[in-house]
Amino acid sequence: MAYLVALDYGHGGSDSGASANGLVEKVLNRKIGYQVRDLLIYNGIQVVELADDENTYVSLQERSNKANKSGAHIVVSMHNNAGGGEGAEIIYSIVGGKGKELAEKLQTEISKHQVFRKIYTRVGANGRDYYHMIRETKAPAVIIEYGFVDNVNDVQRLKNPAFLETMAKDTVRGICNYFGVVYKEPQPKQNDEDEKPTDSDPLDGIVHRDIVDGTQVGAFDNPESIADLVVKYVSQGKKNIVIQRV
Ligand SMILES: [Zn+2]
Repeated sequence: MAYLVALDYGHGGSDSGASANGLVEKVLNRKIGYQVRDLLIYNGIQVVELADDENTYVSLQERSNKANKSGAHIVVSMHNNAGGGEGAEIIYSIVGGKGKELAEKLQTEISKHQVFRKIYTRVGANGRDYYHMIRETKAPAVIIEYGFVDNVNDVQRLKNPAFLETMAKDTVRGICNYFGVVYKEPQPKQNDEDEKPTDSDPLDGIVHRDIVDGTQVGAFDNPESIADLVVKYVSQGKKNIVIQRV
């Protein structure tokens, strides 16, 4: 069965989130989030993105509505923190259940490579969950805070692209473990002299995302796969098929 993950890149547009030391949360969240998206797809897990790029404001209500409409199996909201502290935090629903299970799988992986501060729930008004993305989504949901933009040690890590890549991989490992999917590490491109010339594969390495009615269904770097996918979804009567260069 194909799993669907709703990915929520925190903040955007006029809402920058936390910022300090040259780090702006809305940008940082996407640097990690886009890698999470691509790695999930590489691992055969489908993705629906709840937010646009960092220049676009999308309200929490629009985000949770989109998650609920998509039928996503889980919601993963990605953030970074400020206000004193060091390391990662993960928040899940006060009802526990599958959301807690997902949070713990993510903690296991992220804590291997980042200081782990806490895993917790937060009660809001009327004894319900405090955080919108956890309270208003039907699927099990977690919020990940990868680090503090105002902590000297976290800043050093968050400015290192290799660390962001590691956080993305840990997130995808945690999600794969939750679903019982064996995580596949992407293979780095090899400079094999025997490799066929690129003229037989004009898009080699140039990845196009394929988005059908707002849900990403694949990412390919060869024209045949893109064509196959278009034929498949056109024949299913889908109205909105977007092929987007990454
Ligand atoms: Zn945030």
